[in-house]
Amino acid sequence: MSALKAVLAGNPNSGKTTLFNLIAGTHYKVANYPGVTVEKKEAKVHYDGSEIILTDLPGTYSLTAYSLEEVVARDFITTTNPDIIIDVVDASNLERNLYLAVQLMELDKPLVLALNMVDMAEKRNIRIDADLLAKKIGVPVIKTIARDGVGKKELLEGVLRFKSERKEFRISYGSDLDPALEEMEALINENAFLTESYPARWVALKYLENDVEVMKKGEVFTDVHGKLTAIVEKVEKHLKKTLDTYPEIIIADYRYGYLKSVLKDVVKKENEMERLYL
Ligand code: GDP
Ligand code: MG
Repeated sequence: MSALKAVLAGNPNSGKTTLFNLIAGTHYKVANYPGVTVEKKEAKVHYDGSEIILTDLPGTYSLTAYSLEEVVARDFITTTNPDIIIDVVDASNLERNLYLAVQLMELDKPLVLALNMVDMAEKRNIRIDADLLAKKIGVPVIKTIARDGVGKKELLEGVLRFKSERKEFRISYGSDLDPALEEMEALINENAFLTESYPARWVALKYLENDVEVMKKGEVFTDVHGKLTAIVEKVEKHLKKTLDTYPEIIIADYRYGYLKSVLKDVVKKENEMERLYL
């Protein structure tokens, strides 16, 4: 049986390395990601008869091409095609941390959330309904306190249980972007344009975000690339004229809007709960 590939993704300081050390112990390799001086930690872990190769990805807030870490993280995910992504989120700072989760979900890869630092959240009187969160986003959520070794077994069980379980995830980006996205998706699918690496909607979003790395990969397919950039230019012009804004801004707004609605009943501040009973 071949080893299962799992990666730890998450914002800087969400507890990825602490969780990595908790799961891997002292047996791990340190190397660099190919061609760059970004450190890569990798460990072979045995659990319940399975062999898991666990990689600690660089911490990122996003999966855009704005920083080396972001490109390294997403390239590693799209080229190695892990059996599961573990997204480590800081429970005391949930909305901001889930911004990355939305982007990981859009990659349509198997994913679990490690809801870490629940001790910190509780200290700040933040209560999180993990089951409701899981139901709303369609991703398993496992509570952990990596620093205290809490949740290791549950997380590993989740990894084995939910590996290879991928599903499509899409949110609306509103009436200005959705029709363009659909048109681009159709073009991308018809031509199998970069689809061996990325989902079609993800490529379309990257074009709208002006992602230089993805567009560089697309350039060689002159015909489709030209059609996509023409659609993007049309959208850009329209947004500039009507709202004086850019597609990237609209995309971020809709992601945060989605998260606000997800978190509405999921996160409760203690004093808010008290108010309910007054
Ligand atoms: P990384 O940047 O995602 O790799 O985060 P680290 O693993 O380096 O953790 C950042 C800090 O958070 C460290 O000081 C950890 O000891 C601490 N930390 C990690 N997990 C937890 C947790 O569950 N609860 C608390 N209170 N602190 C944690
Ligand atoms: Mg780290």
